[in-house]
Order: sequence, then structure tokens, then C-alpha cells
Amino acid sequence: MSKATKQATESLDDVKRVREERYFAREEARLIERLRARREAEERAAHAPPLGLCPRCGTALLVEERDGVAIDSCASCGGIWLDRGELETIAKREGGGWMRRLLG
Ligand SMILES: [Zn+2]
Repeated sequence: MSKATKQATESLDDVKRVREERYFAREEARLIERLRARREAEERAAHAPPLGLCPRCGTALLVEERDGVAIDSCASCGGIWLDRGELETIAKREGGGWMRRLLG
């Protein structure tokens, strides 16, 4: 192998090595991001009240349908709870009122 060929081969190896290092750095960053997202979801789930229970007093919520919108209400404290889809449905019906502005 000539000196020039040897140098060209070595610099090609350097390029491959750098590409591999970048690839693994990106893969590692993706894996870290996935693990962080999973941990955050687990922490949120651990601190959120179980589904179907009033976030204020812990009583089982009743699902009532009012004008085609499902509303979770609490018979104990009188709280009414809406998820985002339900809020958006109400906001659309209301037109340009404050609830529409609240949701942006
Ligand atoms: Zn309640």
C-alpha cells in the first residue's frame, strides 16, 4: 500500500469513526429523552388522583350528559369537571366568549 493510499484509508476511517460517534451520540440523546418522558409520565400518574374520582374530595364522579356534553360531577362537593375536549365543545357553542379566549 502506498503512503498516499494509506493516508487516504486512515482519513476515511476517521470519517467513519466520527460518523459512528455522532450516530451513537444521537441515539443516546433519543434514548435519554424517551426515558425522561416516561419518568415524567410516571411521576404525573403517581401524583394524579385515580381516574373517575373527584380531584377535590376523592368521591367517585358521576358522568352526566348535558346538551350532548359529558360532564363529570361530584355529588359530594358539587364540583364539575370537564376534560379539554368537553371544554372545547362548550367553547365552540358559546362563540367568542371568555371560555373560547381561555382556551386560545
Ligand atoms: Zn368532590
